[in-house]
Amino acid sequence: MGRQVSALVIGCGISGLACAIRLQAAGHRVVIRARELPPATTSDVAAALWYPYRCAPKEKALPWSKATFDELMRQHAAGVPGVIPTTFIELFDHDAPAPWWAEAAGGVERCVGEDLPPGYVVGYAATVPVIETPLYLPYLVRRFEAGGGVIVAGEVRSLAEACADCALVINCAGLGARELAGDPEVFPIQGQVVRVTNPGARRALTDDQGPRRISYTIPRQADVILGGTALPNASDTTPDATTTATILRNCRALEPALAAAEVLEARVGLRPGRAAIRLERERLGASVVIHNYGHGGAGFTLAWGCADEVCRLAGDAA
Ligand SMILES: Cc1cc2nc3c(=O)[nH]c(=O)nc-3n(C[C@H](O)[C@H](O)[C@H](O)COP(=O)(O)OP(=O)(O)OC[C@H]3O[C@@H](n4cnc5c(N)ncnc54)[C@H](O)[C@@H]3O)c2cc1C
Repeated sequence: MGRQVSALVIGCGISGLACAIRLQAAGHRVVIRARELPPATTSDVAAALWYPYRCAPKEKALPWSKATFDELMRQHAAGVPGVIPTTFIELFDHDAPAPWWAEAAGGVERCVGEDLPPGYVVGYAATVPVIETPLYLPYLVRRFEAGGGVIVAGEVRSLAEACADCALVINCAGLGARELAGDPEVFPIQGQVVRVTNPGARRALTDDQGPRRISYTIPRQADVILGGTALPNASDTTPDATTTATILRNCRALEPALAAAEVLEARVGLRPGRAAIRLERERLGASVVIHNYGHGGAGFTLAWGCADEVCRLAGDAA
């Protein structure tokens, strides 16, 4: 890899790209090495709403989510493509307290009555970033490369191999960390989404625990992402036609504006599940490895907060 490289990032999904850009800004000469590159990563399949979903532990996810929220809003203000502040309502079919993540979004507004689709008792609304992955991930790639970063397509077979090349290795392999780090705690959470035309949907809605669980509708500029499923330990990535029909039925019940929506495609991705996100430093021979994986259903929601923490750990390792 040569002496010019001071950090090797494994993985080119949202976690790897955010870390690579932060390390670059801190003065590192960074190479990303990844088996799959955008648009073929799990990150490309994501909805992707800022929403701390299926990630733990909450006491760490909360500040990471807040830091990412603030960073995404700054990026939107700076004109970064694919970051769109959007009204989002989390729906409940029973009276429920404000969600645990409310503080990270700058607070939530309690909604009842006509603001909600039929069948819901309370909703919590906030303006949060929606990330359009086909615009945002290529933008991050361009930004990294414009800063002198290099992206190499290829598998890393072991952390020892990576450490032979570089004194600082960042492991952002997502689900691939199961093999790469020998970590049996990493498991797939299969998720199917359906992309449809947008006949006029404006707000993002989720029902995670109510009558249509798990359903979400996320409007983007030119289309809408509808979900979904979250099946632990299922690893088939072929879209299922029955699931597509269920997603359409549930989402049309949530958002009547979708009645005229036409299906563009269905996709399946495997969220990198883990009981707790692994973000920590490990010494391997003469090198330092910083692990940053296991973000579950919230990789976009946590990316910049986690990247800041990776940078702090990298600084401590210097
Ligand atoms: C249907 C669905 C909907 C989602 N919706 C949202 C949402 O609304 N909001 C949100 O925040 N999140 C959402 N997510 C979750 C989000 O997509 C993930 O948390 C996120 O993509 C994880 O990013 P990552 O960079 O850690 O992993 P990935 O995107 O999986 O990237 C891993 C990278 O590591 C590489 N790699 C793996 N092993 C190796 C190896 N041995 N050698 C070299 N490279 C390797 C891969 O090729 C890839 O480049 C959703 C996910 C799905 C599937």
